[in-house]
Amino acid sequence: MTIQKVGVVGAGQMGNGIAHVFALAGYDVLMTDVSQEALDKAVKLIEGNLARQASRGKIDEDEVAAAMGRISCTLSLADLGQTDLVIEAATERESIKQAIFEDLQPHLKPDTILTSNTSSISITRLASRTDRPEKFMGFHFMNPVPVMQLVELIRGIATDEPTYKALHEVVEKLGKTAASAEDFPAFIVNRILMPMINEAVYTLYEGVGSVKSIDESLKLGANHPMGPLELADFIGLDTCLAIMNVLHDGLADTKYRPCPLLTKYVEAGWLGRKTQRGFYDYRGETPVPTR
Ligand code: NAD
Repeated sequence: MTIQKVGVVGAGQMGNGIAHVFALAGYDVLMTDVSQEALDKAVKLIEGNLARQASRGKIDEDEVAAAMGRISCTLSLADLGQTDLVIEAATERESIKQAIFEDLQPHLKPDTILTSNTSSISITRLASRTDRPEKFMGFHFMNPVPVMQLVELIRGIATDEPTYKALHEVVEKLGKTAASAEDFPAFIVNRILMPMINEAVYTLYEGVGSVKSIDESLKLGANHPMGPLELADFIGLDTCLAIMNVLHDGLADTKYRPCPLLTKYVEAGWLGRKTQRGFYDYRGETPVPTR
């Protein structure tokens, strides 16, 4: 299986990072989104992030230009039919992801590999609704993609060995490290990380600590580089809530109950950094706790 052309669906936080690392590693990238604004924003962000890497001496100017030259955008999902590998990185909602794969299917080459960057949704279930469950995998990048070393590889029940090997090779070509996880709710990283974040929100909800004291406690007391609420804002509170719901529904254990305060922030549209407000308000020069 030769992979050269890569399609990225969803040009949000993850989609732009994924496009960035693939283009830098020499792949041709075709990115799509339902919003032209999201595509324009993603291209600008990638350019800025590549320039920052160049200013730090991590890559040279020629690599920036070459990487940008390998990225193109389209509003038409059908255009991704010509790619060898599709990475779906749209909003964490199963109905959205399912519709994307359904709409894409008639346009695909027979051996195109399909993947989802989902943080929690069943790979086996997403795969079962396509015409190629054996060529379908979970391909879970971490945020921010250009910085984080790990990629979780999740086989669905039907995934075949050549598909797994092809993606393992891609991870190596990107200079990252693969970890295999079984297809159970939220896989490895988020199965452990998200209940911790949810517990931090409960700690806030029950008045045990303020946003500032909770984040400082985990940074200074557990040596975490970011506090859990700061991290939740970085991930996106809608994504955090969606993952907790998948854990709660999928494992049917009350220990995964999403905190009502997390739900409240999402209801308010305070989704974290991406909407400029979450557990912190980012509209000024320095982030200000909102509780
Ligand atoms: P985001 O909200 O930043 O971006 C989602 C993008 O998907 C938006 O630009 C939206 O316009 C687009 N979109 C929605 N419906 C679409 C459709 N039908 N077709 C094409 N594009 C569509 O979200 P994100 O943080 O980038 O998360 C994307 C995926 O990556 C989710 O599955 C999430 O669970 C996963 N993920 C997120 C993180 C994180 O830290 N945020 C980390 C790893 C994986």
